[in-house]
Amino acid sequence: MSWTSKIRRVGRMAEPATPTPTNPANTVEPPTGVTGSLQLRHVDCGSCNGCELEIAGAFSAVYDAEQFGVRVVASPRHADGLIATGVVTRNMHQPLLNTLNSIPQPRVVIAVGDCAVDGGAFAGGYAVVGSVADVIPVDVRVPGCPPSPAEIIAALRTVTGR
Ligand code: SF4
Repeated sequence: MSWTSKIRRVGRMAEPATPTPTNPANTVEPPTGVTGSLQLRHVDCGSCNGCELEIAGAFSAVYDAEQFGVRVVASPRHADGLIATGVVTRNMHQPLLNTLNSIPQPRVVIAVGDCAVDGGAFAGGYAVVGSVADVIPVDVRVPGCPPSPAEIIAALRTVTGR
């Protein structure tokens, strides 16, 4: 059986898409040029990797975040947004600032997980500078420890509007 026949027989495997976010209270006013398509550079500021697993799930074939116009790119210079996870450790403080400053304006910053939003379980730790929101301006917060792929995608869709 060819792969095209198999695709025809099996059909779409991704989770069905929920309706496009329309509630203005939950929708981010995107910086110019970001609507519809969002290229993100990810920075792990000091995560336990739980949030990374969920982000990987969000971009997997099952949840398929790319169908909503979001992609993860390798270089901050190719990005128009930053997705950050974990508390900001002393070792990752400067790399986080360097990455943010390498992303052209306008840009959007998305903090994923309780650690990034408010320090979570690691707040006040000796190696911790603070949450992502303590260090750089954050546009979108995705709470949870960790947030599910569906919650991450819902937040990303408030930026792309798709
Ligand atoms: S929010 Fe939870 S899962 Fe995410 S980095 Fe912090 S401790 Fe790990």
